[in-house]
Amino acid sequence: MTRILRALSTAAAVLAIAVAPAQAQRNTNQPNDAKTKEQRARAERDARQYEKLKVFALNQYQTDLDFRDEVDEHFDEVQRQHSVRAFDNNVAPPARPTVVHDGDRLRLQTGLYDNKLVADYINRVGQRLVATDSDRLFAFRLVAHPIPFADTLSTGTIYISTGLVSLLDNEAQLAYVLAHEMAHVQFDHWKLKSALALAQEDFAAKDGRRRAMWGAVLGAAAGATVGGMAGNSTTAVQAGALGAVLGAGIGMAWNSAMSLDWDTVQENEADSFAFKTVLNRSYDVREVRTLYANLQNAVRQDQRVGLGFLGSRRRTVERLANVEELIGTTFKSEIDAKGKLTVTDPEFVRVMATLKRDNGIMALYHDMFQLAKVNLEYARQNRPNDPAAHYYYGKVMKLVGRTEEDRKVADDAFKRAIDFDHRERNYGAHFYRALALMNQKNANLNHEIAKELQDYVMASIRFQSEETAHANALPANIDDMYDYLTEVGDVNWRPVIPDALKGAITNVGIQNQKPESPLRTTPTTKPVVPVKR
Ligand SMILES: [Zn+2]
Repeated sequence: MTRILRALSTAAAVLAIAVAPAQAQRNTNQPNDAKTKEQRARAERDARQYEKLKVFALNQYQTDLDFRDEVDEHFDEVQRQHSVRAFDNNVAPPARPTVVHDGDRLRLQTGLYDNKLVADYINRVGQRLVATDSDRLFAFRLVAHPIPFADTLSTGTIYISTGLVSLLDNEAQLAYVLAHEMAHVQFDHWKLKSALALAQEDFAAKDGRRRAMWGAVLGAAAGATVGGMAGNSTTAVQAGALGAVLGAGIGMAWNSAMSLDWDTVQENEADSFAFKTVLNRSYDVREVRTLYANLQNAVRQDQRVGLGFLGSRRRTVERLANVEELIGTTFKSEIDAKGKLTVTDPEFVRVMATLKRDNGIMALYHDMFQLAKVNLEYARQNRPNDPAAHYYYGKVMKLVGRTEEDRKVADDAFKRAIDFDHRERNYGAHFYRALALMNQKNANLNHEIAKELQDYVMASIRFQSEETAHANALPANIDDMYDYLTEVGDVNWRPVIPDALKGAITNVGIQNQKPESPLRTTPTTKPVVPVKR
C-alpha cells in the first residue's frame, strides 16, 4: 500500500513542479511547509530503517562466513562489470572531424571529453577534496554528453558530464558535485548495496513487525508496477537485477516489503558529506542552494535536462530544503565564523568557456536549443576570438530566432566567425552569410553573395584535399592544439607535414576494430543496473 501511495504522491509532486510558477515553487522549499515536513518524516523513517539494516548486514558480514563469501562474490561481479564499463569509456573512439550536410566540420565527442586542459582542471578540483588520510584513489573524469549527469563506479572513478558542468556557476558548486560523488566511493556504497541486498531477507525474517506486513505487501504486488511507471522504483528494479545476477531469490517483493529507498538514504548521506567537505575547504557552501535552484530552473526550461539528474525532480526539492537547513541552522555559526569563503577561481571561467562551446555544439545537434543557446552565449563572451563559438551561436539563433532582431544577431555572429576563422575550421559561416545577404533582396549585393559562396566552396575543397587526406594520421585532438595556440596568440599555426611523408600518410586507414576488455569474457546472466544519481 505504502508503495502505491508513495507512487501517487510522487506523481502529484512531479505535476506540482511542472505547473507551479517560480514563486510557488520556492514556497515548497520552506521548512515549515506541510509537504516538506511529511517528506522529511519519511526520510528520517527510511534513514532509521536503513541504519538498522546496515548494522544487521555488517554484523552478519563479520560473523557469518557464508554470508561474507556471498557478499564478496557479488561485489567482485559488480567491480568486474564496472571495470569493463571504465574500459569501454576509456577506449571509446576519439572524435574525428566529420562533415555534415550543411558544411559543418563537426567534431562530436563520444566517451570521455577529449580536451585535457579542461579535464585536468576538473580532476585537480576533485583531488583537492580527497581527505589526506583517505586510503582510496579517485579519478574525476569528464564525459562528453549534453545531458547533465554524474555517476560513480566502485573502481573510484567519478564521471561528470559536460552537460552538468555547463550548468555550474562557479568552482564552489563544482566542488560540491564532485564531493557528493566521491562520498559514494568513500562510504563504500557499492559494497554496502551488495551486503544490504543479500541481508535484507534475513533481516526482515527477524523483524517481527515486517512479518505482519506480508499480506499487505503481496496484495500490493501490482502496486510495484504502478510505482515503476511513476519512476519511483529504481531500487526495486535494481534489487531485481542484483537477484538475477546472483541467482538468489532476492526480488521485488522483499524490496517492497522493506519499503525503503536505499538510494535516497545514501544520497542524503553523500549530500551531507559533500556539504561538510566543501565547507572544510572553505568553499562558499551557500552556492549549493543556488546550484539546486539553477538545476530546477534548467529542468523547467527543458525537461530533458532532468533525464540524468542527480535524483528525480521530487528529490531536488527535498535536497534544496535539506541544504537550506544546513546553511541556515546546523552549520550557521560555522559558516559565519569562517569569514570570507571561496566562490570561484579565474581558471574556472577559462575552462568553462571551452567546455560550454563544445557542450553547446553537442546540445545543438541534439536539439536541446535552450542549453545550446546559453552555453554558446557564454562561450562567445569569454572566448571572443573563437570562430566556433560565434558560428554555432549564429546557427542556434538562426534556427530558433523569431524576430528580425534575432536574425541580425545570427548574421552578426556569422560575420564574426568569418573574421576570426584564420584556419577555416568553420567555413559554413560563409554560406550562412551569403543566405543573410540574399534575404536582403538587393541586387547591389550580388557580387558580395557570389564572393561568400566562392569562399565557402574553396574552403570546403581545401579541407577535403588537405586535411581529409591526412586526417587519419593527425592526432584526433588536433583541434585542441589549435585552441591552445590561439589562446597564446598564434592564430595561424598548422602542423608541418614533410613532403616525403605526405604520400605515406594519405592512405592511413582508421582502426575500426572495437577493442574489448579481457574482463568481459566471464559469463554473466544480466548486467548490474547502474544506479541513478
Ligand atoms: Zn549520489
